[in-house]
Amino acid sequence: MTQEIQKRFSDFNLNPALLKAIERKGFEHPMPVQTAVLEDESVMDNDVIVQAKTGSGKTLAFALPLLNQIDAREKMPQIIVLSPTRELAQQTAREFAWLGADLGVRVATLVGGLDMERQIRALRDGASVVVGTPGRILDHLRRGTLKTADIKSVVLDEGDHMLDMGFHDEMEAILEAMVHVERTWLFSATMPPEVLSLTKQYLNAPKKISLVSDITSHSEITQKAYIIPSRRRFEGLTNVLIWENPSKSLIFCGTRAETQDIADKLCDIGFRATAIHGDMSQRERNNALSALRGGRVSILVATDVAARGLDIDAVSHVLQYGLPQNLEAFVHRSGRTGRAGHEGSNLILLTAREARQFKGMIMHSGSKLKLEWIPAPDASEI
Ligand code: ADP
Ligand code: MG
Repeated sequence: MTQEIQKRFSDFNLNPALLKAIERKGFEHPMPVQTAVLEDESVMDNDVIVQAKTGSGKTLAFALPLLNQIDAREKMPQIIVLSPTRELAQQTAREFAWLGADLGVRVATLVGGLDMERQIRALRDGASVVVGTPGRILDHLRRGTLKTADIKSVVLDEGDHMLDMGFHDEMEAILEAMVHVERTWLFSATMPPEVLSLTKQYLNAPKKISLVSDITSHSEITQKAYIIPSRRRFEGLTNVLIWENPSKSLIFCGTRAETQDIADKLCDIGFRATAIHGDMSQRERNNALSALRGGRVSILVATDVAARGLDIDAVSHVLQYGLPQNLEAFVHRSGRTGRAGHEGSNLILLTAREARQFKGMIMHSGSKLKLEWIPAPDASEI
């Protein structure tokens, strides 16, 4: 069976002091946006735009890789984070503080409405991370209390909100003052035109990382989740096939062996099915595809890799037989149907236990995907 494969923070090349802080905090797995940024080492040499919705773990997604390369002995600001609100700035500062505690990192919070003297002291005392709202940051820049010579990393957190709040001019002025910057990262839940024009002006050939899944916005795809009996999974699958009666379907399995096995068993009981997976030659794989395209079979049983990016006309149903590796894989699989304005159904077939794991996966990703869990039809009903 497919196992839920989740990354661990220790899979990345992180400073032990950071790993210790994460462990103390009790975080077990990185959230998807954190994985996406951590596993892409090129972000350190690039401007980056990350689109991911609120509550998806963006703070650690920038705090971790940036703290990982900070020089903690250097007592000048190296990282600056711009936040739309005071509360968010304070919250982000707290995250940097617990995360960087064992590194000896000090954080200055520069927000309006709070004591200027204290902030100046925090800067003078050797804060290497600065988090603040644009107005107050600009204020410090103008007074000369915030030095930019060592600032290598700029984060525009919640870029869309920052513009909503009317900080456009302050953001521009701040970005222009950051002359030694090596990377500017913009994090945003949405990409309205104002954000895009800011990025065009101030980000240099930015790399884009988008975690916005199209599940909820894909209205052409009907989502259904069937619970199948754990001792009679294959029977559950055939019952769903008979019940849903797809004209053309793709069935995703976890392994090559299972993919072949399911295709063979379906043929044995009279379904017109064939398999596509990595143990087949390219020619066999092409044949399998054209069999489905040409209507010689109505079911193609596939592994994720073999089906990546496939565009097959008029697939009416995607069946996910067993757990996807992660939510991205789930979306990727479901995207084989409902293409180019056609309607389609995405069915996931899980045992009760897998269903619980899958719900955990959805929760962990911060996705709003809501599935109705229905017991697979019984042979007596069909
Ligand atoms: P965003 O900036 O995308 O709105 P946050 O960075 O504020 O999201 O994170 C949302 C919540 O998730 C916070 O309470 C944060 O402490 C928590 N969180 C972040 N990363 C993890 C993780 N890897 N595991 C569990 N919880 C996490
Ligand atoms: Mg945030």
